[in-house]
Amino acid sequence: MNLTDRVVVITGGAGGIGSALARRFAAEGAAAVVLADLDAEATAAVAQTVGPVARAVAVDAADEGQVRDLVADTERRYGRIDLFCANAGVATGVGIEAPDADWDRAWRVNVLAHVYAARAVLPGMLARGGGHLMHTCSAAGVLTAVGDAPYTATKHAAVGLAEWLAITYRDQGLRVSALCPQGVDTPMLADGLATGHLAARVIAASGPVLTPDQVADAVVAGLAEERFLILPHPEVAGYAVRRA
Ligand code: NAD
Repeated sequence: MNLTDRVVVITGGAGGIGSALARRFAAEGAAAVVLADLDAEATAAVAQTVGPVARAVAVDAADEGQVRDLVADTERRYGRIDLFCANAGVATGVGIEAPDADWDRAWRVNVLAHVYAARAVLPGMLARGGGHLMHTCSAAGVLTAVGDAPYTATKHAAVGLAEWLAITYRDQGLRVSALCPQGVDTPMLADGLATGHLAARVIAASGPVLTPDQVADAVVAGLAEERFLILPHPEVAGYAVRRA
């Protein structure tokens, strides 16, 4: 996929990776970039940096009704969605003893939100004969113990879901990819290290921390090459290839 004239939706669009993707997609010529995030104020501020193609919407990606409304409203306004980036994510809890509330929140945002995105966006994409669904997973979804327990478990589940979707719908014109960056310099990484929800030792062990713009570069290249696993770092790519 090239991005020219595309209609794109990004959940978690106010965050470090989501906002870098939005600016990059706009620079590549996207017709519309819809930023959907829990944080309405931050989303509106990011939209200003993206330019006139941006639209900011307050959405809880882990609420199925809100995701359905987001998709219906975008299709009504722009006629279609070419690329949906299920990108919202949370790092909660540390080890196996993390409270159930942390496991629940990680499951809802890191996995169920991806299910809701697929349920909402697939009917329109299939009816139009194509589209691309990109799931922001993590290196923690292809390596073990890069994040902590709830993060690692839910990101592995998200990669599994994305692969299932890719295989199930590949003959119907739908492309699905799983973006799996290692540590990226965003508020999530800073907060995760400060609170202990991401362990500095494993982030350091997984290679150099990337900038959100480096992730955006990898995404544009990965989309153009129709890759399933988009792995911005060669060490992670090497491991994933060995595993496969
Ligand atoms: P970030 O904290 O900068 O951004 C995350 C955004 O998601 C925030 O704007 C937040 O408001 C939003 N969000 C959280 N829950 C939401 C919900 N229920 N509905 C809508 N929006 C919600 O973090 P980031 O680093 O940009 O993370 C983006 C994605 O990249 C996440 O899925 C994360 O797991 C993944 N990731 C991050 C790193 C990293 O090191 N930063 C590495 C690999 C993968």
